[in-house]
Amino acid sequence: MSSIVVVGSVAYDAVETPFGSRERMLGGAATHFSLAAGFFVGVHLIGVVGRDFSEQDEALLRARGINLEGLERVAGGDTFFWKARYGYDLNDCRTLDTRLNVFSEFDPKLTAGARMAPFLFLANIRPDLQLAVLRQMDAPRLVALDTMNYWIEGSKSQLLETIAHVDMLIINDAEVRQLTGEPNLLRASRAIFEMGPQRLVIKRGEYGAAMFGPAGFFAVPGLPLDAVVDPTGAGDTFAGGFLGYLATTANGSDESSFRRAMIYGSVMASFNVEAFGCERLLTLQREDVRQRFREFKDLVHFELEEIDRLIPRYVEEFAR
Ligand code: AMP
Repeated sequence: MSSIVVVGSVAYDAVETPFGSRERMLGGAATHFSLAAGFFVGVHLIGVVGRDFSEQDEALLRARGINLEGLERVAGGDTFFWKARYGYDLNDCRTLDTRLNVFSEFDPKLTAGARMAPFLFLANIRPDLQLAVLRQMDAPRLVALDTMNYWIEGSKSQLLETIAHVDMLIINDAEVRQLTGEPNLLRASRAIFEMGPQRLVIKRGEYGAAMFGPAGFFAVPGLPLDAVVDPTGAGDTFAGGFLGYLATTANGSDESSFRRAMIYGSVMASFNVEAFGCERLLTLQREDVRQRFREFKDLVHFELEEIDRLIPRYVEEFAR
């Protein structure tokens, strides 16, 4: 069976949205990614937690089939902690506290099984750690990277060095603009290709996602949802659905697989926002995923029609 390696944060998050709050919930980019990708394929999670990481949370990840041999536990420190508040516009997220804790000394080491995996996701974490993991892989078929403003501002040259070695970026629109200094996303995609990657996926929150690659452009709208409660981890869940699906395909590099991956990413992210943290992903059933995949197809499906019938006046008066 195909598998994916992910390196990134495993965290405790304190989150407040207009619809409620959680003081300490299981989070982290690698956690959200693993729960979504684990729906499709085996996942090796590479990360670090502290003495406060609960047995229950570890058991919960294990029960989902996530391989935790690469999850280091540091007895003398605390787990990464992140605190944030969202406004009514859920794209408006204010980070109130970031405590790297055990992540500041993290030196990732991959197991033999993880090194052989064909897919690698470098979730949002220090760019030199991302590169350290990438360098330990044998011969991955596809390497994707996420990052955030914190690293674009503070570690840009290291980040660019890491980006030069990856196949694709999965980042949000603000990050694309900040990374390239280019407000126009089409031009920004060309600037990203010059950095090394051949493909760029842009997450656009409730507005969906866009993909730029060798075969051109593809976009998915956001699915209108009745109840959006907490967007924390939606981007990582998108990446998990995207790469998780791709890893199930015999030839993950054809365009139609990448387009379906965009839909599976959107499907998983749409569930993630319906509850706090990873709560919704933990109750998700195969049938839920199947049904929402179809909803996305309906959302963008339309029949082609001859324009001449619609604009007869134009045809008669001007097109002679
Ligand atoms: P997102 O919703 O994509 O912003 O991701 C939220 C997740 O990223 C949360 O579960 C946090 O624990 C984690 N996170 C927030 N800031 C950082 C950071 N600087 N480095 C790594 N992970 C982070």
